Amino acid sequence: MIYTGTKGDWPFLRSCFRLSTGFNCKRVCHLCDVADWWDVKGEIQDLPADHNPSWPFKAGPPAALRRLPMGENPKFARIDPAHTWAIAGIGKDLAASTILLCARIGIFGYGSLDKCLKRAYDIFQAYLVKAGKYSSIDDFSYKTMKCGKTFPA
Ligand SMILES: [Zn+2]
Repeated sequence: MIYTGTKGDWPFLRSCFRLSTGFNCKRVCHLCDVADWWDVKGEIQDLPADHNPSWPFKAGPPAALRRLPMGENPKFARIDPAHTWAIAGIGKDLAASTILLCARIGIFGYGSLDKCLKRAYDIFQAYLVKAGKYSSIDDFSYKTMKCGKTFPA
């Protein structure tokens, strides 16, 4: 058996590896230490594939996972795309924001937001049927879009 890393969402990785990096920290990313970590066309382009970032762990006793072979390498704190994107991540928010924007600019017709979202969902369902796909989403609504009813119509 070989340890290849631990995957999880950011709060989990921060906690179980005792990372000193994060959104509210001076240094955000544990995998790189460039100032413009968010700019994929910036300084990060110049980093070699085998770049070793500076120490991203908190001072004090190491987390138990860091005692595993290679556990001191921050690259073993692996970002889980499922959590980061789909399960509780930015993908849902991005999709919901896109649908709401399209509703606002009239792509799904005009009228109340409820009616626009109903038409958007019908288009979505027609796509799923045509593509032979399935979704667990039952409707597009204020609840599934996670927007308050004060969202401007
Ligand atoms: Zn980074």
